[in-house]
Parts: sequence; structure tokens; C-alpha cells
Amino acid sequence: MNQKKKPVLRRLESAKQLSQFMADYYHALNAADQSGKEKIAWCTSVGPAELLRGMGYQIYFPETHSAMLGATRMATDLIPTATAMGYSPEICSYLTADIGAFVKGITPLSKAFPGIDHVPRPDILVYNTNQCRDVQDWFAWYGSKFNVPVVGIQSHRSVGEISDAHIRSIATQIENLVEPLERVAGQKLDMDAFKNAVGLSRTCSDLWEKCLATASARPSPLTFFDANTLMGPAVVGRGTQKAVDVYKVLLEELESRVAAGEGALVNEEKYRLYWDGMPVWGRLGMHSTMIAELGANVVASTYCSSWIFSALDESDPFTSMARAYTELFITRDDAFKEDYIRNKLAFFGCDGVIYHNARTCPNNTNCLYGMPKRLQSTTGIPFVVIDGDLNDLRCVSDEQTRTHVEAFIEQLEESR
Ligand code: SF4
Repeated sequence: MNQKKKPVLRRLESAKQLSQFMADYYHALNAADQSGKEKIAWCTSVGPAELLRGMGYQIYFPETHSAMLGATRMATDLIPTATAMGYSPEICSYLTADIGAFVKGITPLSKAFPGIDHVPRPDILVYNTNQCRDVQDWFAWYGSKFNVPVVGIQSHRSVGEISDAHIRSIATQIENLVEPLERVAGQKLDMDAFKNAVGLSRTCSDLWEKCLATASARPSPLTFFDANTLMGPAVVGRGTQKAVDVYKVLLEELESRVAAGEGALVNEEKYRLYWDGMPVWGRLGMHSTMIAELGANVVASTYCSSWIFSALDESDPFTSMARAYTELFITRDDAFKEDYIRNKLAFFGCDGVIYHNARTCPNNTNCLYGMPKRLQSTTGIPFVVIDGDLNDLRCVSDEQTRTHVEAFIEQLEESR
């Protein structure tokens, strides 16, 4: 007889509304692509989305498409296509999976959102290298494929203290995007719409930050694995009222869980963990269940906080965008990153840290230059490193991950 496994996690009701948000978003893009009446800009996930909204662009974020390729476990088979074209299997597996999918004429959108059979075609592509250089190469390939302009911001990297010179140079680069964007849009920048988008983006960011902060409660109403999908609207919808509305609903549910003392885990939350690095998209469900079954919850992460832009200020849109997109964790030096993680560990009351060593994204991987040991020596909080990748499952060993995580939880148990 088939024995049904007991659920170990509680699902959030509002997750359905966030899924609907994503469906509406992709259908709106598809409609724009079909009608040709609205211009479409492709934008990197922490690119200048608010400026694009000020010119009426529909915005497509290829990284969310790549994450879908990962989550649907399509990516691994598509990466070799890009490799055969000359892209190393060691570079960003978002890039290689996405280009591989395009060349093969495949998209997970068609299954997830019936009626959509291809990604929307760009009129212009806009990047910011604040996260990595890979996005520039990625967009350059599509720019030449579609014969459309590619414009971008060259950001500072490994930034310690942020100076006025940093902000001025980025603000100037954002301002310099206006002219080529207006040319393609066929309309002038609407300053009121731009400021409104910056304001809405800030509100969205504040709400998302509050949602994540509810995980400081014991037990936590949220897991990192849920947050990975719940953050979709913060990525693709920032600068819109709809994203603000949907996070109000999510926050209300999370706060009512906290008030009722109801955690995301069905059983006792014995250990609270922090996740540094990207998720393994093709193992989201598996990792979520495996960790919950061990009585642990990943309550916070660096990655899901990447879409918090607290510096945005609609009264000073260019400068505040420059600051918000420079302040990000990923653009900062190790001293900043260590302080940041140390504060998160204290705020969320974490017992341990899981570092994901993602083979093809050193930019989101912080365990390569001694940081875990340095942090352990100042906080006393132990860590484990798991080797893997965001999208390329050839770099992932499920057995090894399980063994390492189980041993880590045993270690936490023994140290109590
Ligand atoms: S930050 Fe990492 S995963 Fe994201 S685009 Fe750059 S290399 Fe790829």
C-alpha cells in the first residue's frame, strides 16, 4: 500500500496571488509582443527598471526566465548548446541555459502559461554590471540576434565605503541612458511617471523587507525556499502598484502567522539556518523538504534580500537610484559583506550557516576566500559548505548534499 508522507511544511495561501501576479505579468508581455503597440525593454534583475517605466516600456527580465529553466530542470540539457557555441560551461549557467533555450526554440513559459510560445522580443536591452559582467555578454548576444541596441551601466565592484564620486558616476550613466531609451521608445521621459515608479519601487522594497523580517519570529512563518518564489514580483514588478498590492497581502498573512505562533514548519523548529549564495533552482522542493525533515528551517538569506532598495527616493530619482543600485550586497567588498551577514545572523537568531558554492556564479558565492571561517571565529556560529550550482545539475550531488547537511545538523545537536 502506498503510504502518503506527512507534509512537513505549511503552505501560504497568498502564494496563489503571487503566482497569479507572475502569470498576469508574462501574459501582458506576450500581448505587448504580439500587438507591437508597446515597446519592450529587457533589463537585468538589478538594472534601472524605474527609468524604463518612466518611458512606458514593458520590461522583461531574462534572469527570471533562466530561473524557470532551472526550476523546471530543463537547464542542464540546454547548457551544452551554448557550450558548443563557445561559451564555457564555467560561466553563468543562467546565461548558457537561456541562450541554449533560445537557440533550440524552447521556453518553460509555454507550459507554465498556456498561450505563450516564445519569450517577448526586445526593442532594446539594458544592463547594469553591478551584479556581474556576464549580464553584459548575455545581452550583447541577444542585441546582435535581434539587431537592437544594447545600453548599460558599468558599475563599481567590490565597493567599500560608498563615496559621492561613486554615486555621481552611476547617476550620470543612468542619465545618459535617457536619450537612447527615448529614441527607441519614441517618447520623452515622463518625469512624473519616473518619480512615481521610483516611489512605488521603494514601497515594494519596504514591504518585501518587512515580509522577510517576519522570519525573525520564533517559529519563523517563512522559509528561504518559499521566499525564492515569493520574491518574483519584487524582481519583475518593482515600480508598479500591483506589486505593492500583492506584498501587502503576503505581509498580512505572514504577520497573522506570527501572531498565532504558527511557523512554516509543521513540526518544531529546532534549528534556524542562514543560506548564503543562490538556491539550486532544480532542487528547491527537495532541499526544502530535506531540511524541514531534520527539524531545521532556513529563515534568512543573502540572495532574497537582493531586491531591497532602501535608498530609493522619488524626490531625487537619478541620485537615489544610483545609490540604491550601488549599495547592493553583491557590489560590495568582503569587509562589508561580513558585517552584513553578521548582522543578519544576529537579527534572525541563526544557529548555523549553509554556504552554497555555486560553480558558475562566483558573484553570488561568498565561501571562496575564507569568509566562512572568519565569520565563525567572530560569531561562534558554525557553517557547512555545499557544492552545487544554480542551474547546472551536473555540478550537484544530491547524496553529498544530504550527507553534509545531515552531519551539520547532528553537529548542531551535539553542541547544544
Ligand atoms: S550574478 Fe551570477 S547568476 Fe546572476 S547573471 Fe551574474 S553570473 Fe549569472
